[in-house]
Amino acid sequence: MKISGKIAVTAKFVLILTALVLAGCAAGQQMISESKGVNQTASQSTTPPGPVNQSAKTDRPEVKTLPAPKPELGVPAAEAKTADNKEKVVYLTFDDGPNSHFTGRVLDVLARKNAKATFMVVGKNVILNPDVIRRIISEGHGISNHSFSHDYNKIYVSPEAFIADLEENNVVLAPYTGKPVMVFRAPGGPQKLSPALRNKLHRGGYTSVGWNIASADSDPNGITRKQLYDNIVNGLEIVESMNRTPIVLMHDGTQLTTTEARPGSATAAYIQSREAVVAALPSVIDHFKAKGYSFGVVDQHTPPAW
Ligand SMILES: [Zn+2]
Repeated sequence: MKISGKIAVTAKFVLILTALVLAGCAAGQQMISESKGVNQTASQSTTPPGPVNQSAKTDRPEVKTLPAPKPELGVPAAEAKTADNKEKVVYLTFDDGPNSHFTGRVLDVLARKNAKATFMVVGKNVILNPDVIRRIISEGHGISNHSFSHDYNKIYVSPEAFIADLEENNVVLAPYTGKPVMVFRAPGGPQKLSPALRNKLHRGGYTSVGWNIASADSDPNGITRKQLYDNIVNGLEIVESMNRTPIVLMHDGTQLTTTEARPGSATAAYIQSREAVVAALPSVIDHFKAKGYSFGVVDQHTPPAW
């Protein structure tokens, strides 16, 4: 590889890492809106949902956008195989549900488009939405463990606390899945896992699943359908240039007490972003189909994001 090529790849890697860090798990930010309100930072954690009409945060982090996509030169519209003839698989993932407002609409789109996805579910929301979790499973989508509480202050106190929270979620999920869900996504992302916690999880048979394409749908300012679509299209270009299997982070979101929110509030931005996910999803799926991808369901064999 030429030096200039190395620089370009390095620049892309820095860019995508920046995007990933900014993306976070989003749930930390998301659950701000429905739990604590104005003075909570993005990295702080969650409590059960409370009133939703709260003021928007004023200390919002800057959200950077990825560069505009380059035009494809001489590349066929649909390439069913990669250069080494492997099947092209994309993993669409939705975090923090299930919920009664958006998860069903996401499922409707997936059914209409004949695409599969994986839902990173939170136990406290599973309890509230048994019909939705049943539907996710009956329609052939994947389930991953996203903790019971999604409470950073609780789960990241110690390795034991984290695993106890995963196990609590598995108790909730057992009637639906019939077995423990050992594939998990760490709330806040894999970067929140300490080496000691990683080791303990590995010894316990757990498999971490991250992401390499951030839709940035956890932007506290809210995101539009077009922004979300562009983020994924641009992210895919980077991931493909690095020969990775695309794993896309989106959020169907946590259970809200209502979808009525004061304009300009954090909750309104949160709802706007969930609407953007539902609205953009058909185009996102079409884009992956046009590029020859099939839609995989996350399990312990899913390639690591990085
Ligand atoms: Zn989350």
